[in-house]
This record gives sequence, C-alpha cells and structure tokens, in this order.
Amino acid sequence: MRFGSVEAGGTKFVCGIGNEHGEVLERIEFPTTQPEETLAKVEAFFAGKEIDAIGIGSFGPIDLNPASPTYGYVTTTPKPGWAQCDVLGKLKRSIHVPIGWDNDVNAAALGEATWGAAQGLGSCVYITVGTGIGGGVYVEGKLVHGLVHPEMGHIPVKRHPEDTFAGVCPYHGDCLEGMAAGPSLEKRWGVKGHELADNAKVWEIEAYYLAQAAVHAILYLSPERIVFGGGVSKQRQLFPLVYEQVQKLLNGYVQSEWVSERIAEYIVPPGLGDNAGLCGGLALAQRALEQSRSQSELQSQSQAQV
Ligand code: ADP
Ligand code: ZN
Repeated sequence: MRFGSVEAGGTKFVCGIGNEHGEVLERIEFPTTQPEETLAKVEAFFAGKEIDAIGIGSFGPIDLNPASPTYGYVTTTPKPGWAQCDVLGKLKRSIHVPIGWDNDVNAAALGEATWGAAQGLGSCVYITVGTGIGGGVYVEGKLVHGLVHPEMGHIPVKRHPEDTFAGVCPYHGDCLEGMAAGPSLEKRWGVKGHELADNAKVWEIEAYYLAQAAVHAILYLSPERIVFGGGVSKQRQLFPLVYEQVQKLLNGYVQSEWVSERIAEYIVPPGLGDNAGLCGGLALAQRALEQSRSQSELQSQSQAQV
C-alpha cells in the first residue's frame, strides 16, 4: 500500500508518502500562504504518485461532521484567507482516492496508537505544546469528534502561585494555551523557548500547567497513555516535573500503577518523534481506505440481493 499524508499546519504544510507500516518514504514541506497557492502545491506533490488513499491532519478548528454543509472546512481561524476554507472539498476535486480528514492532534493520536508510543492500546491522548496547545483523543479505537472536536488546549488552569503573567490567548487570556504554549513562554520570559533550557523556574511553572492538562485527561477520559508532543515538549527535563505535579494533584486517588509507579512509561514523548503528524496522516489514509472498501462491499452485497 502507498498512502499520502498531509500535515496541514498554520505555519507550514508537510506532505509525505508512506506505507501501511507507518514508514515515511518521501516528504516535502512548504510555508502556509494563501489557500489556493498552498493547496495547489499539495495537489502538485501528489500528482502521478499512485497512492491508494490520503489522510489530512489539519490545523483548526475544523468541521468534522459529514452531515454538515461545511464538512471539510477550516472554520474560525484568524489565519488570513483560511477562515471558512473548504480544504477537503478542494483536494477532493483533484485527487480521486479516499481521503481521511481530521484535526492535526487527532491524527497524531491515531498515528501514535497505530505505530507509536500507544501502539496496541485502545486509548490515548496526544497533547501538542507548540505555537498553540491542542489535544487529540483516541478512545476505544476511535477518534473523538463529538460536538466539534476536543479543544483541550483552552481549558482553564489554576495559576502558579508565583506567576503574574496575564496570558496570551486571544479568547481567554490565561487558559492553558495562553499560559503554556511557545508564544507565552517567549512573551513571559523575553526569549524563545529553546533558549530557556537552563532556567529551572521556567520549567517548574510550565510543568505546573501541563500537569493540569494531563490530570484533566486522566480524570475525564482515563486514557491508557498520554503523549506530549510539539516543540516545547522537546525540553525533556519537563517530563519528570510533570510526573511530580500529576502525582501531587491526583494525590493517590486514581488507583493505577501507571500513575503511582510507572508514570514515566505512561506520560511520554511521541514514539514517532517528529514524524508523529505525518504518520497520523498515513493512519487516517489507511482508515479511509478500509472504510471505502467496506462501503463498496456493502453496496455490491445489496446489489447482488436485488
Ligand atoms: P507548530 O506548533 O507551529 O506546529 P512547534 O511544535 O515546533 O510548531 O512549536 C513552535 C513553538 O514551540 C514556538 O513557540 C517555539 O518557540 C517553541 N519551541 C520549538 N522548539 C522548542 C524547544 N526545543 N524548546 C522550547 N520551545 C520550543
Ligand atoms: Zn484559550
């Protein structure tokens, strides 16, 4: 099988080709400009590539409801040109294979559950901490959409006692994303995140917020694994600090050795490393192909009965 994958980000697009083992065979990336120009590059990349299906993991919010007139759209983004943009529809008109469509973090959660840190498990939560914070949710073998899709990056958080920073979320100010995503680190401390590696207070405060996200995930969803990805999570010294805070917040209430003894195997970086997003698209493509095959089987069965 040859699958195509699109990691549609607000800053850059990554397109790739891979297989059913989650191996990425080819990739390109280009900056996200206006939709027409950017999507034309996606189409050009896949032209003549002989793929069986494509999966798109998109920045959002996006419309995931197949019954909605705006299914396949990026909806309310402040990114110029992209609000109410029919991304899926435009690509469907030129690429005639089954196309899987989900948001970037749900795609990454599916990729991790298929080939990565949550491989073989029925559930996981993938939280990216980068330009924004987002959480993808995979439960009982399915990605959660529900009303829209989970937006765990914008949960209210309890403020660290020493933190007087106002927060940078344009909607909520001091929500999780407003307090703990890359841009908030930069605004609070005056330099970019990767230049703050040696400042212990930075990571103590950061872990205080990220632990709250993990605790919400554990209490709401009881996932079998939590994966923290994105640029800021590359600061691996964060992980032990998050473990400490999670255990403190839960205070022995959730009775599982994964929290009490094995938390370092439970809250982990992406098993797929920097390919988490791209592999997520491959996993979406694989599911889209399976779904389209079972639909055509059903159709031919019902035709045979008439
Ligand atoms: P995006 O979220 O745009 O897809 P990233 O996950 O790389 O991309 O996130 C970018 C944000 O993460 C920026 O705010 C950047 O400063 C921050 N960042 C990237 N790498 C690191 C790092 N190694 N340490 C700390 N912060 C980082
Ligand atoms: Zn917010």
